[in-house]
This record gives sequence, C-alpha cells and structure tokens, in this order.
Amino acid sequence: MAMKIWATCALLAGALVTTGCEEALGDAGSEGRITAAALTNAGADSANWISHGRTYSEQRFSPLDQIDTANVDELGLAWFADMDTARGQEATPLVIDGRLYLTTAWSKVKAFDAATGELLWAYDPEVPGETAVKACCDVVNRGLATWGDALFLGTLDGRLVALDRDSGEVLWEKVTVDQSQSYTVTGAPRVIDGKVIIGNGGAEFGVRGYVAAYDAAGGEELWRFYTVPAGDEDADDPAYLQDAAETWNTDVLAGSDAIGGGGTVWDSMAYDPDLDLLYIGVGNGSPWNRAYRSPGEDGTGEGDNLYLSSIVAIRPDTGEYVWHYQTTPGETWDYTATQHIMLADMEIDGEMRQVLMQAPKNGFFYVIDRETGEFISAEPYVSVNWAEGIDPDTGRPIENPETRVDKTGKAALVTPGALGGHNWHPMAYHPGENLVFIPAFEAGMMYAPETDWKPDRARGFNVGFDLGAGDLPPDMGIRREVAGTLRGMLVAWDPVAQQPRWTVEHEGPWNGGVLATGGGLVFQGTAGSEFNAYDASSGEKLWSFAAQTGVVAPPVTYTVEGEQYVAVLAGWGGAYALSVDGDLMASKAPVRNVSRLLVFRLGGEDVLPAEMELASLPLDPPASRASAETIALGKAKYARYCAVCHAPGAVGSTVLPDLRRAGSLGNAQSWMAVVHDGLLKDNGMAAFSGSLSREEIEAIRAYVIHRANEDKAIEGERIARR
Ligand code: CA
Repeated sequence: MAMKIWATCALLAGALVTTGCEEALGDAGSEGRITAAALTNAGADSANWISHGRTYSEQRFSPLDQIDTANVDELGLAWFADMDTARGQEATPLVIDGRLYLTTAWSKVKAFDAATGELLWAYDPEVPGETAVKACCDVVNRGLATWGDALFLGTLDGRLVALDRDSGEVLWEKVTVDQSQSYTVTGAPRVIDGKVIIGNGGAEFGVRGYVAAYDAAGGEELWRFYTVPAGDEDADDPAYLQDAAETWNTDVLAGSDAIGGGGTVWDSMAYDPDLDLLYIGVGNGSPWNRAYRSPGEDGTGEGDNLYLSSIVAIRPDTGEYVWHYQTTPGETWDYTATQHIMLADMEIDGEMRQVLMQAPKNGFFYVIDRETGEFISAEPYVSVNWAEGIDPDTGRPIENPETRVDKTGKAALVTPGALGGHNWHPMAYHPGENLVFIPAFEAGMMYAPETDWKPDRARGFNVGFDLGAGDLPPDMGIRREVAGTLRGMLVAWDPVAQQPRWTVEHEGPWNGGVLATGGGLVFQGTAGSEFNAYDASSGEKLWSFAAQTGVVAPPVTYTVEGEQYVAVLAGWGGAYALSVDGDLMASKAPVRNVSRLLVFRLGGEDVLPAEMELASLPLDPPASRASAETIALGKAKYARYCAVCHAPGAVGSTVLPDLRRAGSLGNAQSWMAVVHDGLLKDNGMAAFSGSLSREEIEAIRAYVIHRANEDKAIEGERIARR
C-alpha cells in the first residue's frame, strides 16, 4: 500500500504542496525505508525533513503554515537538549517520522524524539583529537543523509559511516581520504538512487579535491571525480582534466613538492532528477596565491586553473563530467564556489528558465541555466572591489588589476576577504515572494605575498600569503575603526531583478543559516545570540528568542501529530569565530559557546537555565625580554601555523584558548611539551615537531608574550570604553 501511494505522489513531482499526498506520505514514511521516490518528492512530505536542503533543489522552503506572521509571537520553547561538545555547531537536523537526527562538532550523532526531546541513541565516531590541526574552520559537521533504513555521516578524519537509523549501530564504515594528508570531512553527504555522494576539505593545507560516490549498501567506492588535474602524464586523466591541465602550471601539481591544487568539494551539492544532473560547488586553489600555481617564471603568468571556484554538473550514476561554470577564473583570494547551490524555475525576460543560483564568496549573486551551464546574470550582493562586474557576453569577471597580488609585489586590501561575502551558511528561497535570503557579511582582508613560500604539507596553512600582514596594531582606536567596517546582514534578494528587496542589519558578520516557510516567515539565528523570525515580504522582525550563544546553524521545521515545530542547533564557532579578535568583539556578545538544540512550537513554555556570567581576567603575562629578531621570527611562524585557530595577532579567538593567558606562557618547558611534543593532542592541539624547530617554537612563545604585554598596556582603555 505504501509503495502505491509513493508511486502516485511521484507523478505529482514538482508541485510544492500536493494536499492529497501530504497525509498519505506521512503514512508511507512510517514504513521507514527512504526510497528514490521519497527523496525526489521530499517537497510534498511536509511533516518530515529527509534531505539536507529539505529537497534535492536545496531551497530550504517548507510549505508548513501553522506558525505564521499572525501568531509567531506565541512561539515558545518546546524543549531543548544540551550537547556534549563546546565547539562550532553547523548541522541541519533530519526529521523522519517523529524522530530528529543531528550531528554535532567532532562528528557525533544524536537521535531524539522530535516532540518530547527524549534522547533515543547517541553515536561517537571517536575522531582523534589531533585531527583538529587539519581543519581550517573548526571541528564542525553539517549533517546527515538517509537512504533505506540507514543514516550516513562523514567524519572529520575522513570516514563515511553508515548507521542503523533505529539503533545508531554502525552498519559499515569506509575511509574516503588519504589520512596521511590534511583532508577533513565536514559536509553532509547526499544520496542519489542508492549512491552516497561525499566530498572533503583541506585546500588551505595542500590537498587535491574530489567528490566520490559509495554504494549505500556496503560502502564500495563507485566513482571518484577529481576537480584538478593530476599534473602527471602517467595519471591517465579523463578528457575534462586534460582540458583543465592547459590552465595550470602542471609542474607544481606532481612530485615530492606538489601543492595539491585544492579545489575541494566540502559542502554544496544539489540534484535535478529530471535532468539527472548532480551539481557540485568547487573550492579555492591550494595555495591561495595563484602566482605559485600558474605558468610564468615570476608568477605573472595567467591561467584559469580549472576547476577551482566552479560549479560543475556531473552524472550521479557514473561521475561523468557534463558542464562547468567558473565563478572566479584564476582565483587567488580563497573565493570558493562551495557555497549553497539552489535550484528553482522562474520567468526571466518572458521565458521560464530552469536556473541554478549561488552567492559564492566572491560577492556576486549568480543565476545560471542549470541544463547547459549558460550564464544568465550576476550582480554584487555585498561591496566588491576585485571586479567591476561580470561581462554578460562571456560570463567572466571584469577584474580590478589592483587586487591581484603576485609573489613579491605589494599587498592589496580586497573585499570580500577570504571569508567571503557569504560563507557556508545556507540560504533559503520563498517561491511565493521569489526571494532568496542570503546570510551575507562584509569583512575585507589584506593580501600580502609570502615571498619564497614553500609548501609544508605536514602542518599549517599553505596559502602563499603572509597571514600576519593584516594584524592590527595595539591601538584601540584603530581596532574599533576596523570593527566598524565589519557588517552582517540578512539580504532578501530578487534573483530576476538581481537586486535586494529588503535588508536586515545584524550586529556583525557570521550569522546563521536560513529557513523560509509557507507561513510567510523567515527564521535565522545571529552571531549576537538571537534566534529571530522575520516577515518574508518585508523583513520586519516579528519574534526573537535569546539563545545565550551565537547561532550559525540553519533551522528546520516539521510536524509531529499535526503540531508544527521549528528546531535549530545553537553554538558559536567556525572560521570567523576562530579568527576574530576576541577582545574587539567582546562588546558584540558572541564570546561564548553554549551548544544546545532548541525546539519551538506555538505555546511552548520551557525555559533555558540562567546564563553563566563571563569572567574576564586581566592579562598577566611575564615580562617581554626577547630580541626583536626572535619576536619577528615568532610572528612569522605564528601567522602560518597558529593564527588559523588562535586568532591573528594572538588576540584570543572567541572559541579556543587565549594564548596570552596560557598557563604555559611563563614556562618554556611546558610550552615545548604542548607545541613540540603534543601533550594536549587529545584535546585538539597536535604536535608541531615535524614542522617547527624548538628554536622556532620558543620564538612563538616570545612573540605571544610580546603581544600580551602590548595588549595589557591598552587593556584599561578597552575595559573603560566597552
Ligand atoms: Ca578555503
């Protein structure tokens, strides 16, 4: 019976709300097994949320309308659950027949009764703590996929794990990466017709990106699609990679000093079942600085470096290349195109078009034809200085040459910076309004070449830029001025007009992913510790909840026995939280991580425990006695090996330990035991003995002591003016 209902509803594919099927699908779902038809028709199954972006189109729109603009002020906490990891939480939960499944930091999985919050089971893949040193952007995980009776998880250390959905027991697991390299997996897998598709990250460290498909039944690898050429004539690259090789200096891609090339597929995917095309978003180059990857002696040669920063369409059955569109040819600013890919149909210039939309890091909102890859239009959704616009005939950017940096030349201040104008945080689409809601922000970056850069693929960032070049001086006036240039906003973007219809300003960057609903609502959490509901048509804030922590993950909505719920995983973290100046942002609130699942319904009356007071101890570093030369050496090594997690300039990130306050700062032996020998590796602080000499590690200590003393001198001013 259930199969028959599925078959009938499958005929209605494309309709957003198929009232007749909606309830029937609930019954069919209770049979448990997730089929190809269930995933293709997930849009009609409003009770559940069975795919990462809710449907293969990844619109993150739910037709549910029980909670609407008129009654959202009655929304209250139904239940909450504290998580056992205090790091960035970025996951989209899945909801299947009254059960909610989610992933947390450190790739853990939990299953809850979606109505009561009862914990049904928990799974910990026991990712080794020192894996954290391979992660550019916190030890996060963005979610699960489901097929049959199983859930699929990618772990930080690169495993694909199949779990029994009822019990949480491991069905099989498979290592999907070379674990001797700095690959990590943080993205949610997708499943297409029994194939589990998953990519990986690590382009900051020097890996070669790919996406691969595994048999859902047993984990056998079925195909692998590399995004950059092997650079080795014996590698037998397929035609699409031989074409790409023309756009690289392939000498740097092979051999013992190879740079990997990057192009990792670490997050975004979408699928069109009618066209049978899988769309993947490809990341930045490795290293970032193109001058180290392209033809020409001194790095002045050009080269698009395909398929970096591209959207690529491939056949999910075979991994065969179909088409690509490159958003940033010859990318050099970490302008990934791994951002959310969303599919929709809309009328443009009097014609119905099947489009694919993306707001990649480079600051332009793209609308392209998803059948052919043809460029339709693009306009900037944030301030942009690297390009004047996109040439409508060629689809290529009209670049500002001032923003290109080579191996030895001058630095450039570029907007967007490496965090982008929009990062991984999912957008949402409201079909009735024809609006895309973009969690956007503005944060420029100083790009200065790292001269004589050599790859070190064991540890540390491999970007070919001096990451200490943009460090702020110990001057509160300048720091506040820079803080004033940081913006965060929710932009309601009209993809046909290519302009915003409304914009909500937030306190700063790095706000949460978005959900849109049939109740005319847009839900979004903020870095400023709020979880908000806005009117989709106007942006008016209609409801707000004090979340006690920054919320970066996207919400979902579902029903259990006819009651609508909205759920979001709270917990500050991720790339911005690790690289932001903790002192500077202290007045802007997101200085703590409270990792917690929050679930709401109309009339919900649960309350959170009282908020803990944050104690801020004054800086008390040992005196700075090292030579200027030693401090300079420490600064250079800190920028390459430490800043990514402990914040530039050693100012203390908002998530990880503030090194200016480290107990070992005054004790050279303790410092060496941690940094050289890996005393705290199980906590995530790996040993750096393979990359840094004892002299260099001691120089880093001298640099941090120096910085702590500088900041102590301005501390009174900071506290007085907060
Ligand atoms: Ca990157």
